[in-house]
Order: sequence, then C-alpha cells, then structure tokens
Amino acid sequence: PKTAYVRTKPHLNIGTMGHVDHGKTTLTAAITKVLSERGTGVFVPFDRIDRAPEEAQRGITINIAHVEYETDTRHYAHVDMPGHADYVKNMVTGAAQLDGAILVVSALDGIMPQTAEHVLLARQVGVDHVVVALNKADAGDDELTDLVELEVRELLTAHGYGGDTVPVVRVSGLKALEGDPRWTAAVEALLDAVDTYVPMPVRYVDAPFLMPVENVLTITGRGTVVTGAVERGTVRVGDRVAVLGADVDTVVTGVETFGKPMESAQAGDNVALLLRGVARDAVRRGHVVAEPGSIEPRRRFTAQVYVLSAHEGGRTTPVWTGYRPQFYIRTADVVGNVDLGATELARPGEKVTMTVELGRDVPLEPGLGFAIREGGRTVGAGTVTTVH
Ligand code: GDP
Ligand code: MG
Repeated sequence: PKTAYVRTKPHLNIGTMGHVDHGKTTLTAAITKVLSERGTGVFVPFDRIDRAPEEAQRGITINIAHVEYETDTRHYAHVDMPGHADYVKNMVTGAAQLDGAILVVSALDGIMPQTAEHVLLARQVGVDHVVVALNKADAGDDELTDLVELEVRELLTAHGYGGDTVPVVRVSGLKALEGDPRWTAAVEALLDAVDTYVPMPVRYVDAPFLMPVENVLTITGRGTVVTGAVERGTVRVGDRVAVLGADVDTVVTGVETFGKPMESAQAGDNVALLLRGVARDAVRRGHVVAEPGSIEPRRRFTAQVYVLSAHEGGRTTPVWTGYRPQFYIRTADVVGNVDLGATELARPGEKVTMTVELGRDVPLEPGLGFAIREGGRTVGAGTVTTVH
C-alpha cells in the first residue's frame, strides 16, 4: 500500500525558467540532491527530469517535468519545462500555475533572448515573485558575473519586478550535483531565498472545483486518470465532476499527488484524478474538470490583448480583423477568429481590445489569461474581460 500524502506544510508551485542550456535541469537535479541529503526530498537525477514524456508514463506520473521536495517550512512542486515551446504553452496560459519562479541565468552568457522572453511572459501571467540563480558561477570570473548580475537586475526592473530587491544567488548546479560543499551551500542559500522571498499565495479553496487537464493516462485495472494543477476549490474521492470538452459527467474514484493518495486535493495542488467509467480517448489535454454546473463553456469573448513587439519575439507586421491564430487558454489550444472592431489593426507593441470567436467552446470567465500563438511563437498575451 502506498503512503498517504499528509499536508503538514504549505504547498507552493515553483519552476525554473531561463534560456536553453543555462542549467535549469542541472539546477533542478541539484536541488533534489541537496534536499535528499537533508532528508526532505528524493534525489531525481538529470536524465530522469529531462527525458521525453513517452518514456515517463509509468503509473500515475503527474507530469514528467515535475519534481517535489520540501524545505524546512514548505512543500514544493517544481516544474522544469524541457523546451521553450513548453514554457510558452504552460506558463503563458497560466497552466503551470507558478506561485514563483527561479530565473536561471548563466553567469558565462548573461541575458539571452529566452531569458528576456520568460521574464516578460512571467509578468504577463502574474508570476509576481522571481528569485535569480546566477548559474555556472564555478566557471565564471567575478567581474563578469557582477556585470551579469547588474544586467539581470535591470531586466527585472524593466518588467516591474523591483530588480534592486530581488534575491540574486550565485550557484553552480553542476558542482552542487557533484557534492562540492561550497556549491551545495549556495543551493541551500537559493532555497532559503525562495522560502523567504516568495510569499504563500491566497488559495481559493472554497470556490467551485476546477482543474484544467494537462495529461491523460490509463492505469491498467483502474481506469482513466487525468492530471493537472487544481485551479480552485477542493475535490475528494466520491465527488461528482463534469469533464468540460468531453461532455462527460462522472465520479472521482481516486485522488493522488506524486503517487501518494490523498483525502482531498485543493487549489494549488498538482494531482492525478481517477475518473469512473471514462474512456481514455474521451478526455484530452485542454479539457477542464469542474464541479457540475459551475461554469459553462463558451466561444465568444472580448479581451485586452498585448501584441508582442518584434523585439520580444512577436510579429513584425500588424494584426488585422480576420486574423486566425491559435489561442492557448488554460491547457487548451484552440483556433480563434479576431475582430478588432473600429480599430481594425493592432501593431506589434500595442495594447488593444479584441473580440474573439473560438473554433470550439471552452470554459471562459473574466480575468482569465491566455496566450496567442502563430507558427510556433508567441505573438500576444491577453486577459478575458467579457464573455458573450
Ligand atoms: P537547460 O537547458 O537550461 O536545462 O540546461 P542544462 O541543465 O541541460 O545544462 C546545459 C549545459 O550546461 C550542460 O552541459 C550542463 O552540464 C552545463 N551546466 C549546467 N549547470 C552548470 C554549472 O553550474 N556549471 C557549469 N560549468 N556548467 C553547467
Ligand atoms: Mg533543461
């Protein structure tokens, strides 16, 4: 029998972000190593974090890129998204539901395009607290590292993060992974900074239950399991839920977090829900599990949208009425038709109001964030203001 999850510490969701090859995965592995030595985590080696999804679907795996660990004061789910596209999908849509982020910047390379893009996107989706890991500090010289630190603080200030007060910790994921005491202490200092600088967010545990489906798995002999982060409310074994998108009403017959059964899951938890009598191919990423009757899927809405500038990786040409990009809403990826009304066009770098007609119904509500993507890149970020 599996050991049940006991909620003894506040739970937060954090993640590493930053340019490819700056050491996000190495640092993630190093954090689990350092905490496993303290006895509050299980070491997850680099190649177990960085592998492809297909290889990882064994038992109830929440998400390949998720690891869990505890510090003295908190329980964390930590997401290390493998590629840039995963950031855009999971972070920009808010699907990752990060309460805080560790921005990994290589002290050897400094700010690179994805460093800046992830900071911009984090700001857009309301990740209010960022701690900086100046990684590869083992290999850099102090003067250059000082310059990189200045540059990162400026970047954060430019995006409204208060770069002067953001903790910046010089680390070496690689050396900490090798057990070097100096760099082990540096990773501990980084975790202390996360513990103290990222506040515990407000959780809407009393709201009607809602969880966007991130992944669907089958467990032989048990049935279909959906995984994701609980956006709001509480769910327990025996609860009736609706799977919006699949048009299915069912009952939750099991709730687990990181392989441990739990009595009830609440807003902020990363969980796997076992659903009674649901065929595996009936449910997909992008569907939403919710308290029946609490939210109705719709396809037309008005939103405030920021069209990314070319400098931020966006378009070089304006967007017009009739434009049909992809909308990433929670975990869903849906085509939508843009109507700019009397404005007619929106230039890169501008904020506009648009009305969107989606290709299918999805649960929508004012305040919901989304990303606009086209040809594999993010071209806009918005917030729903009215649902029609
Ligand atoms: P990611 O793409 O951001 O996840 O980066 P990885 O963790 O895959 O690391 C990219 C490369 O940088 C690998 O070759 C690592 O061994 C190397 N690396 C990561 N962390 C450090 C570090 O602290 N010091 C040094 N010298 N190299 C590192
Ligand atoms: Mg990586």
